[in-house]
Amino acid sequence: AKHEGGNCFSFHSHGMDEDARRRQLIEACLREALGKGEFELVYQPQNSLDSGSIIGCEALLRWYSPQLGMVSPGEFIPVAEDTGLIIPIGSWVLREACERNKAWQDLGLQPQRVAVNLSARQFRGDSLVEEVRNVLADTGLAAEFLELEITESALIHDLDAAIGTCRKLKALGVKLSLDDFGTGYSSLAYIARFPFDKLKIDQGFVRDITHNPANAAIATAAIAIAHGLNLAVLAEGVETEAQALFLRSRRCHAMQGYLFHRPLAADDYARLLASRERL
Ligand code: C2E
Ligand code: CA
Ligand code: CA
Ligand code: CA
Repeated sequence: AKHEGGNCFSFHSHGMDEDARRRQLIEACLREALGKGEFELVYQPQNSLDSGSIIGCEALLRWYSPQLGMVSPGEFIPVAEDTGLIIPIGSWVLREACERNKAWQDLGLQPQRVAVNLSARQFRGDSLVEEVRNVLADTGLAAEFLELEITESALIHDLDAAIGTCRKLKALGVKLSLDDFGTGYSSLAYIARFPFDKLKIDQGFVRDITHNPANAAIATAAIAIAHGLNLAVLAEGVETEAQALFLRSRRCHAMQGYLFHRPLAADDYARLLASRERL
């Protein structure tokens, strides 16, 4: 049977379950999405609770497919990773985020760091360091204003190679953060071997921090580890005042979440920064 919709074609046989069919359709549409300009980046502000100021933002990918509508990154990123499409898509994200950040600076806004997510596959590819160097040179963005977010799963495959890649990235001057901290399988000992600047505490721990004693303990320990290793620490997915209070009491002063801001379109982020500066 041939399923046709929009310009994406997807072939499937009878008996395929709904999930497999959906996945195949996503894959077919994803193959064309970059060329058709269907991606956009949104930017979620990161706040410092001390000063109330915005300390930077995380670039998050959005895909609007004319055929499928909005597809969440949680659904299409795994498909992009499995198919290798994450390589060209990730390259687009990196360049777009750096270009945008430089454009904000050129508007006269206070220079800010933009954090970009790297998938495991991007991280392991042998052209990453060269690519980051080129993007910085092409866009004119100073390296200190780019932060790369890496998850534990990207590192555990080959620790020594991963440490080498991180050192080369650091040598360029970019910042490195360990994303989704606490969700991986690695031992704590390895963290100290990596030149990270920041730990990001996964929202899974933050979500029920105020009523789940186990997660509260884990988040508290994670913050203490960051302090002990002299790393910055940021909690993500902060939705309530109670969560923010808890985190602050543990000396986690950087936060990202709906309590403060949703991810914003590029122009809205620029307006937000401009309005803060007028205060
Ligand atoms: P992540 O890197 O952990 O990103 C944080 C996710 O939490 C984002 O979801 C963000 O919109 C969401 N979030 C932020 N604050 C809150 C909150 O207060 N409450 C709740 N419930 N959620 C909050 P999003 O944008 O759907 O992205 C999901 C995941 O997709 C990301 O998780 C990341 O792993 C991946 N992703 C997104 N953009 C990219 C990209 O450009 N490249 C790669 N490789 N992965 C990406
Ligand atoms: Ca992230
Ligand atoms: Ca995360
Ligand atoms: Ca996550």
